[in-house]
Amino acid sequence: MKIISDMHCHTVASAHAYSTLFENVRMAKKRGLWANAVTDHVGGIPGAPGPWYFENMSILPREIKGVKILAGMESNVVNSSGELDIPYLKGDPLNWVVASMHEVTFNGTHGFDDCTSAWLGVAKNPLVNVIGHSGTPGFEYDYEKVIPIFGENGKLVEINNSSHRVRGIESVNNCKKIASICKKHCVPVIVNSDSHICSHVGCFDSALDMLESIDFPEELVINSAVNRFKKYLESYTNYFEME
Ligand SMILES: [Zn+2]
Ligand SMILES: [Zn+2]
Repeated sequence: MKIISDMHCHTVASAHAYSTLFENVRMAKKRGLWANAVTDHVGGIPGAPGPWYFENMSILPREIKGVKILAGMESNVVNSSGELDIPYLKGDPLNWVVASMHEVTFNGTHGFDDCTSAWLGVAKNPLVNVIGHSGTPGFEYDYEKVIPIFGENGKLVEINNSSHRVRGIESVNNCKKIASICKKHCVPVIVNSDSHICSHVGCFDSALDMLESIDFPEELVINSAVNRFKKYLESYTNYFEME
């Protein structure tokens, strides 16, 4: 299976990542990607940029070296109601939002019931495109209950390649369960690198191995064909409206 876009990538602006937007895009081009999203951290992640960084994203070119560029953000789920820390941004500069749970920005406990109710809240948030690395160990939730609701609300369940490398086998096993339930309920997934250095942009090996191991249908991987992904962008983002 070929992946045509990498829609979760960090730059030096995230403060714990090591490449610029242009270095990321150069790698995306080299690896034959059609689109690339810049999704730096926000809010309480140490060193994350403030609202001005995101507000100014309207200056980003729509395309660099023939690769479509989406202006995004990796927001944090901050509580069990599923609230996010997306700041008010003048001029609607973003066209791509990942929502993820991180230890440092989640207020209160993140037990099974907390995470279940949090994701149910996120599912209803019209700003969110991607449910980020929800297989993170320590943030398990009721996959059977929540995943069909992600699907009903047009949310893409992320299969995050970096989680497998950073979090190991526990993460792979959670992702396998999540992907199996997506397959069962026909809920689309998106494969992303979550790169923090340009050499990881467009690297999806572990995520694809896992999907292959459960015979995951290619047509449910939203970024496995340009036309399929374009259709999603047209329906769920303002990317083409902004052209
Ligand atoms: Zn994250
Ligand atoms: Zn990330």
